[in-house]
Amino acid sequence: MADYSEQWRDYRRVRNEALLAVFGIIPLGLLGLLLQSLFGRSRVTGFVMAVIMLAWFFTAVFTSARLNLWQCPRCGENFGNKWWYRKTALIARRCVHCGLAKFANS
Ligand SMILES: [Zn+2]
Repeated sequence: MADYSEQWRDYRRVRNEALLAVFGIIPLGLLGLLLQSLFGRSRVTGFVMAVIMLAWFFTAVFTSARLNLWQCPRCGENFGNKWWYRKTALIARRCVHCGLAKFANS
């Protein structure tokens, strides 16, 4: 019997990073607004916040792409996508290629 527990642990890490990157932009934006209200609006604070938000945006895009390209531990194919079918690994409950249930070990 195969043991995919390490691959599922990797999936959880990639999933959590993607969720943090996507939803973390909201508190980051609120923090930027708070800093602007505390220190005033200037070109420097605006520039720094723009750089941070842009870096965070690209981090969210990169981590989401990693999650979407995550490979099934059994068949090695993309877990949630086929060329005609897209569900992403986050939503897919089983591999769209071999039918392995998410977090299953066999
Ligand atoms: Zn599979």
